[in-house]
Amino acid sequence: MRLLVATRNPGKQAEFRAVVESPDITLVFPDDLGLVETEEESALEVHDTFGANAHAKAAWFAALAGVPALADDSGLEVDALGGAPGVHSKRFAGATGRDADVTAANNALLLERLHGVPVDARGAQFRCALSLVGLDDEEIRADGVVRGRIVEVPCGTGGFGYDPLFFSDELGCTFGEADAAAKHRVSHRGRAIRAIAQVLGSRG
Ligand code: IMP
Repeated sequence: MRLLVATRNPGKQAEFRAVVESPDITLVFPDDLGLVETEEESALEVHDTFGANAHAKAAWFAALAGVPALADDSGLEVDALGGAPGVHSKRFAGATGRDADVTAANNALLLERLHGVPVDARGAQFRCALSLVGLDDEEIRADGVVRGRIVEVPCGTGGFGYDPLFFSDELGCTFGEADAAAKHRVSHRGRAIRAIAQVLGSRG
């Protein structure tokens, strides 16, 4: 079976390849099918849950390519902010432009919002929702969550986005300090990908 994974991010593509690809499942990505990024694609993530955004992307790519499509949406939910930035994680500070500038603005705003919040009230989680459309009549979903807390000073230079601010309880360091394999073992995305791989594997 051919499965289109609806991400253009090379890091995510490698994570999907490592876990989902099998003798029965060949993964392809938008570029492999000549699907260039359009404004319509960029405007798909407008919903108020990760699951709804992932579903919108998977349904759009499945219809476009005529093959089953798997899509993800993810972000950071901070307890003291009532779950924000949530689905707005990518553009929390409203900044656009170079990725590095956007990340710096988002991370600075997060630290500012949590200024003065004590350590034991800085709990947070990353969440990842996956949606697979086009394989069965029903959508197949999987979720992954990783708990931790937001540190007061960025730590580490690895990963991307909020990684230097997210202290993982399981790893005992921030995601910015962890290597890619360790992060993948406990991360929201790693968990969601393994869950969907299990569903696909159980179909025989
Ligand atoms: P998306 O799922 O690629 O749309 O991610 C949305 C946003 O959530 C990213 O731009 C990051 O700001 C944040 N995010 C999601 N996953 C991670 C992660 O593993 N580490 C750090 N930030 C993340």
